[in-house]
Amino acid sequence: MSTDCIFCKIIAGDIPAKKIYEDNDFIAFHDIRPMARVHFLIVPKQHIDTLKDCTETQQSLLGKALLLAPKLAENEGLVGFKTLINTGREGGQEVFHIHIHVFGGGNNR
Ligand code: AMP
Ligand code: ZN
Repeated sequence: MSTDCIFCKIIAGDIPAKKIYEDNDFIAFHDIRPMARVHFLIVPKQHIDTLKDCTETQQSLLGKALLLAPKLAENEGLVGFKTLINTGREGGQEVFHIHIHVFGGGNNR
């Protein structure tokens, strides 16, 4: 847990989010500024800043996160969807707690 991280605070239940899924390793919730009709984030509970900070240690975690995407997308009514991982400030990352965007259903920004 990183004390100044907004996603760690959501994971801890300290700030609210529109949660759609939770297990021991992940939480998923709707993005507060949706880029599409459906737009949610898959977030590992372990605080890792970016994809660049991952090593083989996170191989299984990253695989599980990707496999969650189609399951949760289907639950949210999406037939097809986009996935996105922004990495680093130059890569458009705003929240430095690794996450996968999943979005679809029209109005893509
Ligand atoms: P990124 O640019 O990949 O770091 O994306 C961060 C995403 O987190 C953005 O799409 C934000 O809209 C979203 N976000 C920031 N704060 C919250 C929050 N409190 N609840 C839900 N989504 C958030
Ligand atoms: Zn965090």
